[in-house]
Amino acid sequence: MKKVFFLFIVFFAFSVVSGFSLNGPAGRVETSIYKSYGVPYIDINSIVKSFGLVLYWNPVLKEVKLEAPGFALLMSLNNRYASANGRTFDMSGPMIFHNGILYVPLDVKEQVLDLYMKTGDSAAGNKRARLQNFKVVIDPGHGGENIGARNKNGADEKTIVLDIAKKVMAILEKNGLQVVMTRDKDVFLKLSKRCDIAQSEKADLFISIHANSAPAKSVTGIETFVLGIPTSEVIKSIEEIEDGELALGDSIYTNGQSEPIDSAKRKRLSKRLACFINEEVVKSAQVKNRGVKEARFYVLRNTDMPAVLVEVGFISNADESVLLLHEDYRNKIAQGIASGVLNYFQE
Ligand SMILES: [Zn+2]
Repeated sequence: MKKVFFLFIVFFAFSVVSGFSLNGPAGRVETSIYKSYGVPYIDINSIVKSFGLVLYWNPVLKEVKLEAPGFALLMSLNNRYASANGRTFDMSGPMIFHNGILYVPLDVKEQVLDLYMKTGDSAAGNKRARLQNFKVVIDPGHGGENIGARNKNGADEKTIVLDIAKKVMAILEKNGLQVVMTRDKDVFLKLSKRCDIAQSEKADLFISIHANSAPAKSVTGIETFVLGIPTSEVIKSIEEIEDGELALGDSIYTNGQSEPIDSAKRKRLSKRLACFINEEVVKSAQVKNRGVKEARFYVLRNTDMPAVLVEVGFISNADESVLLLHEDYRNKIAQGIASGVLNYFQE
């Protein structure tokens, strides 16, 4: 009779308080918080799932062991002391059975699991904190009356590259990087202004985003340029197109430089970034890799941080220009460029 009365009390003392989502290294699990005698309790199975633990139940000792590589947590039924990697924790209540399921006080998560099992999360936090120290200037090519390459199917370089640049910005900012755009709307911007922004912001990286055009309409793929001497007439013609506003005379040079000069270090870093960007865009958008090339683009000559000019695809190719008109394809290109930048800072 006494026992029945006790269970009756427990039943009433145990009530759902709130929905709760448990975020652990193994994933996010929706669960509920129950309160028993004022102590919030959580279903042990949701802890096991969200932290990727393995549960062992010893029916003789009425003991639970939760295990992960390098981690073991021991708890006994109706006992408020837990042992994590040999260290004793006083929980706010005992582990209990309710409706055939084991419940543990919520502070097992807060006191023990968050402490021992969150190494993955804190590594991510550290990475983010480190990335906050870096600033990237993204330069969407052309703008305003300067349309850039254009296809009669409606693909305009200035619009496509602005959209990709904004998507890259969003991903990089989400990862903690500081991002400055040379333009974030459809406006004309002098090449010198773009470089001034990168210089005055003391950017760690400068990324100019363009789309390509070639007389041979079959040409497709991504190519990324770093400062150097062009190795072909084709590249010289791309320089002239991209630096078009400067090509008032015979030369695209306006600052008296006959050949581009670059420090070995800047060139190495720019090439590294260019390689990462090409690799990642190829992975995410399944596009042809035309490689890392050297050219004397104005924006590469007149900035002094590691800098690249990405040609994301060919507006002059019928299929590729149609792809570039599709948002999901631009998302893939942007994801690739952003991943390349993140690799640059992380590896
Ligand atoms: Zn362009």
